Amino acid sequence: MSSGSTRETALISLRDVRKRYVNGDVAVDVLRGISLDIHAGEFVAIMGASGSGKSTLMHILGCLDKPSAGQYLFNGEDVATLDADQLAWLRREAFGFVFQSYHLIAAGSATENVEVPAVYAGMGRTERHARARALLSQLGLADRLDHRPNQLSGGQQQRVSIARALMNGGHIILADEPTGALDTHSGAEVMTLLGDLAREGHTVILITHDQSVAAHADRVIEISDGEIISDAPSSSQSVTEQAVAADESVSQRALPVLSARATHPPVSFIPEALEACSMALRSLRSNLFRTLLTLLGVVIGVGSVVAMLAIGEGARASVLERISAMGTNLLVVRPGFEGFGRRSADGEMATLTVEDALALSGLPNIIASVPENTSSATARAAGRDTSTRVNATSADYPLLRNWQPEQGIFFGPDDERRYAAVAVIGQTVARSLFGQASPLGEFLLLNNVPFQVIGVMSEQGATAWGDDADDVVFVPLSTGSLRLSGQRHLRSVTVAVADVTQMDMTEAAVADLLRERHGVEDFRIRNMAAIVETASAAQNTLTILLGSIAAISLLVGGIGVMNIMLVSVTERTREIGVRMATGARTRNILQQFLVEAVVVSAIGGIVGVLIGVGVAAVIGALVMPVQFSVPIMVLAFACAAGTGLIFGFAPALKAARLDPVVALSAE
Ligand code: ADP
Ligand code: MG
Repeated sequence: MSSGSTRETALISLRDVRKRYVNGDVAVDVLRGISLDIHAGEFVAIMGASGSGKSTLMHILGCLDKPSAGQYLFNGEDVATLDADQLAWLRREAFGFVFQSYHLIAAGSATENVEVPAVYAGMGRTERHARARALLSQLGLADRLDHRPNQLSGGQQQRVSIARALMNGGHIILADEPTGALDTHSGAEVMTLLGDLAREGHTVILITHDQSVAAHADRVIEISDGEIISDAPSSSQSVTEQAVAADESVSQRALPVLSARATHPPVSFIPEALEACSMALRSLRSNLFRTLLTLLGVVIGVGSVVAMLAIGEGARASVLERISAMGTNLLVVRPGFEGFGRRSADGEMATLTVEDALALSGLPNIIASVPENTSSATARAAGRDTSTRVNATSADYPLLRNWQPEQGIFFGPDDERRYAAVAVIGQTVARSLFGQASPLGEFLLLNNVPFQVIGVMSEQGATAWGDDADDVVFVPLSTGSLRLSGQRHLRSVTVAVADVTQMDMTEAAVADLLRERHGVEDFRIRNMAAIVETASAAQNTLTILLGSIAAISLLVGGIGVMNIMLVSVTERTREIGVRMATGARTRNILQQFLVEAVVVSAIGGIVGVLIGVGVAAVIGALVMPVQFSVPIMVLAFACAAGTGLIFGFAPALKAARLDPVVALSAE
């Protein structure tokens, strides 16, 4: 006899529900046509021997599993028509599960465990926290709020799980062997609690194999081999009295109505993501060592990229700076190929003349055309001597190189015309010959020819080729040719171009003019801008190389993240089951694991950037110049986080697609 089958629509109504498991060729019929009605406020025990199909039935009642055949009406509505999210909603709002083995999340405190269903219901943090604490206190756990499951006794853990079942209201408490793992005393306490809840108006469905436990209920449904063999009021209880008491409370209790889904406020994305973040941090903290190892791959990847690029950029910048210091608007003309032109006495090509330099200065778009004739010489003064480089050039030289005297003056056109025996010396020569004394006005001997020092150039440092730019003596070209080399041919003519965008045209004009004057192409023109480009291109190749190393290390890091997330999903399968049973949507589970993967990778990214910057800073302070690039750091970090997103997706999807029943029964 079914109690109250004549009353209003049953809360739960099963019609000929069957469940068949097929393993290969073997089909097992676990439920074989179960029909029953359970009304709001009832306290029902489902009793049967082990293996009779009780848990299977409970999973179907709690919408964790679907029947193979038959109909399940919840509050008059066919559950088969609900999609996954609606079923999650029903589990969240209507049911509260209490399991034999408690199924608490090991990484969470008692309070956090109780809060789980409310998280998925979108309840605010403070409200949730307060409610969880209040429930735990009511159940006598006020002094165990922050204990983890392994710090609680079995009875206490079961009370935590009852609190969790009540968190979202717990209209229907589904308890599967709730006392099965408890000692007699704790078991009795739990049964008292369930009885109290039933009296308060909760519908309680208790599953047990134990006659004495079942006796606490108002109605006992006995199943055997997947069939109901009896359904009767409990002998030890006064049913009428209980039913009336229950009905009164139930009338005040808002029952979950499926149509209420429409009015349920949608959970906004930001708090949900924050919640997922803090859950992720919690679970990562509980596996700190493993998390650190996983981080390592990403940290090394990001760190080495940031450090290498800072060093590479530093090197590139200093090379480019040196090249640019020589002037990117310069065309350098030198004597040309072997076999062409006249040779001078010392075997040098002797095709460029001062007249060529003069002619070039007449071309359009040219600031200056400076002839240079360098040779080595011994400079002697004040009893000291040094071997140095003599550059016989024109008065425009400082203009060309943007390099001015620090003391005195550079020689002028007059000095050139008069064949003046004057010299302007570099800092290195000044130091070697004169020490701390001022060289101005002093005489020095260049290959035994006396020159008067009229200027000292400012400090220049090393050239792009690593020579000492300050180890030089400048003399007028005319004087140099006459008194030093006796040659009128030039080592080079350097042309400064006014408009750099016209560089190529000017270079062509220079070449045309020289060809015209010489009749043959016995010269070479080097374009400084082209050298800068070449240097840049070489550096870009380096950057691409470093970038590939970055990509590879991030790939390796990403595989590490994926690996560890897969392990994490496997390890936490039961937790996933619990979350699903407490109402997590597929999306929540997906999001949780995805956020965990991204959080691991992002932390790895941040640590990597910091370590990379640190290493580069040390190298910058001790070894060579480095240059930090914020966009590179941001990019490296974003790549790390993105790696987490990409490589975390497969594990997260695996978790989200787990079947709740399979997940719950995982080891
Ligand atoms: P109870 O909870 O009453 O002890 P269950 O509902 O857990 O029983 O299981 C009933 C029967 O169904 C058992 O014989 C069990 O072996 C079988 N069974 C449960 N789950 C599966 C499954 N996934 N595949 C095959 N058989 C199953
Ligand atoms: Mg069971």
